[in-house]
Amino acid sequence: MPTYDLADRSALVTGAGSGIGRAVALELARNGAAVLVADLSADAAQRVTDEITAAGGTAAAAVADVADPAVHAELVAAAGRMGPLKVAVNNAGIGGEAAAVADCSTEGWLRVVDVNLNAVFHGLKAQIPAMVAAGGGAIVNMASVLGSVGIAQSSAYVATKHAVVGLTKTAALEYSAQGVRVNAVGPGFISTPLVERSLDAATLDALAAQHATGRLGTSEEVAALTAFLVSDAASFVTGSYHLVDGGYSAH
Ligand code: NAP
Repeated sequence: MPTYDLADRSALVTGAGSGIGRAVALELARNGAAVLVADLSADAAQRVTDEITAAGGTAAAAVADVADPAVHAELVAAAGRMGPLKVAVNNAGIGGEAAAVADCSTEGWLRVVDVNLNAVFHGLKAQIPAMVAAGGGAIVNMASVLGSVGIAQSSAYVATKHAVVGLTKTAALEYSAQGVRVNAVGPGFISTPLVERSLDAATLDALAAQHATGRLGTSEEVAALTAFLVSDAASFVTGSYHLVDGGYSAH
């Protein structure tokens, strides 16, 4: 049974082929949205689309590198063909190099800024006018608990996630009067391919111990918060940064 009513609208989710994005796409579809599943990987986007349709939902796959400013208008147009675009989740992100700031390559730094920050800016530029035209909407930008605290060896990631929080607050102030809500979500460490392929088992155990819950989170736990934020149940929620971090930042 759906938790929220997201019927009669389309939802655009980037990085939806894996991890948190996949769980968000499934949850939005379960609540009635027609979901555009956008990912770098055509296979991954199609797999998630097939999962949604097999469960009785509506979805279409799109291949897009969100770092390319030109793709965002195409994604908005594709989502608009499935219904009025009223939901967007700018989720695609990368971890980048594990290195102290003085050892980061310029190329590595710039790629993280392009994918984690510039892509959110380009996404908002395309999504907001479409939502205003559709009579309003709700956007979630996937930040991180590392949008409020630092961690060694991840300067580009931490810097971009802090910046996404600031961009979110500013966009919310600018477009609230036109019916567009913009929020950021800050997951703690979540068991996804991004985390599992970049960290060894000992590091994952040590990270789990830093959460009050004593474990990493699941993508579904992030998706549950995201679905609430884009639903009409969150009609008074905008311009804020919502942690789903198992108490990581409560220390
Ligand atoms: P993930 O499992 O790696 O999934 C990310 C998806 O985005 C992958 O399918 C990836 O494709 C895709 N992607 C990467 N670069 C892209 C690009 N340039 N254009 C379009 N798609 C792209 O990662 P995740 O852990 O679910 O992370 C999702 C978001 O949550 C990110 O913004 C991340 O920073 C944030 N987050 C994650 C955690 C965590 O602990 N996992 C915590 C806080 C915040 P490929 O696999 O083909 O690269």
